[in-house]
Amino acid sequence: MLEGRIPHGTNSGYTYGCRCDACRAAKRVSWEATRKRRLESGDFIHGRPSSYCYGCRCDACRAAWSASMKAYRKRRLESGDIIHGRASSYSYGCRCRSCVQAGALARAR
Ligand SMILES: [Zn+2]
Ligand SMILES: [Zn+2]
Ligand SMILES: [Zn+2]
Repeated sequence: MLEGRIPHGTNSGYTYGCRCDACRAAKRVSWEATRKRRLESGDFIHGRPSSYCYGCRCDACRAAWSASMKAYRKRRLESGDIIHGRASSYSYGCRCRSCVQAGALARAR
């Protein structure tokens, strides 16, 4: 274990695999900076889900993003890697009774 040698509160702490609050915050800040830089420099290819993550909301990127979300949900659902009775499982497409109920409950809120 690298405990003690991890530079907490930096992006590299996160890269080392640390998920403490300080490292997570640093990671978020650095991701935000990357995202902004990419978006401003136009250094990304439209029609890719990653471009949507960078903040582009053009039609091509939106379509790529929703297609990738759909594929992701389908994969989760097919692999059975979901917990039933959760609204998120309902959004993954599970229509079992407990997921439908959870989905309806989440919408009612
Ligand atoms: Zn840390
Ligand atoms: Zn775009
Ligand atoms: Zn279910």
